[in-house]
Amino acid sequence: MVRETKFYDLLEVPPNATDSELKKAYRKKALRLHPDKGGDPELFKEVTHAYEVLSDPEKRSIYDARGEAGLSEQGGMGGMDPQDLFSQLFGGAGGFFGGGGRSSGPRKTKDLVHRVSVTLEDLYKGKTTKLALTRNVICSKCKGKGGKDGAVRTCVTCQGRGIKVHLRQMGPMIQQIQSACDECNGTGEVINMKDRCTNCKGKKVLPEKKFLEVHIDKGMKGGQTIYFRGESDQSPGAEPGDVVIVVEEKPHERFKRQENDLITDIEVDLLTALGGGKFAIRHLDDRALVVKLEQGEIIKHGDLKVIHGQGMPSQRHHEPGDLYVKISVHFPESIDPQVIPLLERALPPRSPIENFGKTIVIEEVALDDADTRTRGGVHNHDESMDEDHDEPRVQCANQ
Ligand SMILES: [Zn+2]
Ligand SMILES: [Zn+2]
Repeated sequence: MVRETKFYDLLEVPPNATDSELKKAYRKKALRLHPDKGGDPELFKEVTHAYEVLSDPEKRSIYDARGEAGLSEQGGMGGMDPQDLFSQLFGGAGGFFGGGGRSSGPRKTKDLVHRVSVTLEDLYKGKTTKLALTRNVICSKCKGKGGKDGAVRTCVTCQGRGIKVHLRQMGPMIQQIQSACDECNGTGEVINMKDRCTNCKGKKVLPEKKFLEVHIDKGMKGGQTIYFRGESDQSPGAEPGDVVIVVEEKPHERFKRQENDLITDIEVDLLTALGGGKFAIRHLDDRALVVKLEQGEIIKHGDLKVIHGQGMPSQRHHEPGDLYVKISVHFPESIDPQVIPLLERALPPRSPIENFGKTIVIEEVALDDADTRTRGGVHNHDESMDEDHDEPRVQCANQ
């Protein structure tokens, strides 16, 4: 059935060996042959390569069917560094030989990401805020060992890897599923109950509350990040990750922000719009900006004006942004007919209505307020049916 047995022979297992038998065999041989233990480096490499192939279901099936030649056709002969595989298998960082092994870069604990919601006022003025967070620190009593010297043993079930690998057949594919070893909770180590550190209960780390001073710089934007290097969880044999603060900008009731520009809506009364006057904009700091409208100038409904330099400060101390002002004019509800002649004097004359010619019939109609009820659209159809049974409120002018 199997074409070649060289790799199986190197590991001293039969060709029908299971995955766990292979692993056990490799572990036994690798420990004996490891160069750090005075073993032969070449043989160690060969044994490791054999295990690398046979522990990979795809490579193993190629090897079984076509031997080593089949593997080289696949271009997969390079494989991984035997030392890397060894580290991966026995918990990395050379821990097995007390630092003898070589690791492929220090392991880092996960970054702690924290979102901070900041008002536009605080982003305008800048702010320092204190943030309390709980992170794991190495137990000072056992110095991260979890127990007395020698109390820590490698987990037998997972051989220190902390993970279990299951193979599952899914049609023609063999799927490899990894899960945490339940014997050691994925740590790869076990400590007897009585030998455990009383301070950390064998966990090696303890939660600790820490306060960080977060400086919100003037002009910072939502989505920006602030890093606290190495302030994340500590873990034995790993570098602590970072605490990452993500700035979130709270929506503001008066201002919208676009990059460094601010946009605000201002309502002016009709007299001010026509005859000049003042309006004020309460800014994001302790100021109010007063705008004087000169007499003789007119501000129109929907006008967009700009006040230069009154937007957000630039975080890099360049020019600040601008403040855009969207004008809406507030009209009075009614006017005393007696003063209309004064308006007629002040304003341009009324535009006459169009001359439609003799063939067009002129019909005078009433103008009603068109609210949602009378619009007769789909929105409140039922309601309008209930309230006015007969006559539609709006008539088409052409009828
Ligand atoms: Zn401890
Ligand atoms: Zn385990």
